[in-house]
Amino acid sequence: MSMNIANAEHIDSYYAATANDHTRYPRLTGRLDADVVVVGGGLTGISAALNLAERGFSVVVLEAGRIGWAASGRNGGQMIAGFACGMDTFAADLPDEDVKRVWDMGIESINIIRERVAKHNIKCDLADGYLTAANKPKHVTELKAWRDEAASRFGFHDFEYVEPQDMHRFIASDRYLGGLNDKISGHLHPLNYNLGLARAAVTAGVRIFESSCATSLQQGQSNIVKTEQGEVHAKFAVLACNAFIHTLSPALDRKIMPVGTYVITTEPIEQERFAKLMPANAAICDSRFALDYFRPTADRRILWGGKVSYSKLAPPNLAQAMRADMLKTFPQLEDIKVSHAWGGFVDITMTRAPHFGRLSNTVYFAQGFSGHGVNVTGLAGKLMAEAIAGQAERFDIFTRLKHRDFPGGSLLRMPSLVLAMAWFRLKDLV
Ligand SMILES: Cc1cc2nc3c(=O)[nH]c(=O)nc-3n(C[C@H](O)[C@H](O)[C@H](O)COP(=O)(O)OP(=O)(O)OC[C@H]3O[C@@H](n4cnc5c(N)ncnc54)[C@H](O)[C@@H]3O)c2cc1C
Repeated sequence: MSMNIANAEHIDSYYAATANDHTRYPRLTGRLDADVVVVGGGLTGISAALNLAERGFSVVVLEAGRIGWAASGRNGGQMIAGFACGMDTFAADLPDEDVKRVWDMGIESINIIRERVAKHNIKCDLADGYLTAANKPKHVTELKAWRDEAASRFGFHDFEYVEPQDMHRFIASDRYLGGLNDKISGHLHPLNYNLGLARAAVTAGVRIFESSCATSLQQGQSNIVKTEQGEVHAKFAVLACNAFIHTLSPALDRKIMPVGTYVITTEPIEQERFAKLMPANAAICDSRFALDYFRPTADRRILWGGKVSYSKLAPPNLAQAMRADMLKTFPQLEDIKVSHAWGGFVDITMTRAPHFGRLSNTVYFAQGFSGHGVNVTGLAGKLMAEAIAGQAERFDIFTRLKHRDFPGGSLLRMPSLVLAMAWFRLKDLV
């Protein structure tokens, strides 16, 4: 899998094949002035740009490849309330009232997507329904405890525990021991969502440039971001580069670790058969550390995600290996072919909490979504826009979280992470 972002085109994925907007935004040439320059045209960057433009700022977005080229246009499409880490991670650094505000923002992040889709009429197959499935008895205990804690600690009553005999409401598989039905989450076509948001941003006045990799950031009274053929001078800069931040900020790069994760789609499945596989049309993920996540698509495929790799290389025979995983849950799909297989990088932090902050009073960043960014990116963009407009209170709840560097430089980071992950995988076995 390539980390080379300059001038990258969409990879051969199911999402690219079913994209419903083929706008090509121009390459930046020459000098532009703006209130804010946003680097990165994924969900974080575009969400920040749109929120800023709605607040009256003039905004330029620089995207090295294409809008939604990276994780935002490749992911599992699981729109899950909350964050990648548990709430105790927030509680370690924040007082109870702020932990509750973070919880509320985890719910708000879902509403942001629903509102954006409705307001801008974004066609992205947004669907309700999400279930976390238990693989082992200990997961049953954990999921029930999580339901109870959400109710008692946060007053949240939209989790329903699904007993094994009722799992057929969600899935035609006897692999799982039960599950937690999350009644507010769902799933969507993330590339079409990203492209629709970009269109809305342009309508709001944002100037978007593709094939415009930011090669340097010069901080100062005015921040200057240079590309090969142009430069943007802006009072504020927003860095939304995810796993590719190394060129612009080695300090931010040390806080995250790019991890490869992979997705396949099947060919479309005949209607009657498809309707029986996941009858509630809900997205599902399992409860292991290295988890499987899967969902039905609007055009009757199963989209199956999983596997992780800590080298920059995709697993050998990716499509076959992923298909073998899928058949453990759905052996009845033995005769169904895989249509697309692809991967992308998530940026995990040491704690799995998102990493938001400032490099200076005028340079903002949001990264470290740790594989749970479909919803949190929309929140990140909204909070950065609030902060740049002078209301930083909510953004600064996140900036108080402590984030450690991954040990070692980029060379050592990999082996230590492989060891850590091997340990978590081992825990999946017990
Ligand atoms: C395979 C996969 C499956 C996933 N599944 C899920 C899921 O089901 N649910 C969920 O919630 N999350 C999931 N995630 C995570 C989620 O996709 C990400 O957290 C989210 O998309 C991050 O958005 P982003 O905008 O911050 O980053 P990205 O989408 O990676 O965008 C960053 C952009 O910045 C650009 N860029 C970087 N550096 C520069 C530069 N110097 N100049 C110009 N442009 C630059 C890149 O080209 C890129 O387009 C998954 C991720 C992957 C890879």
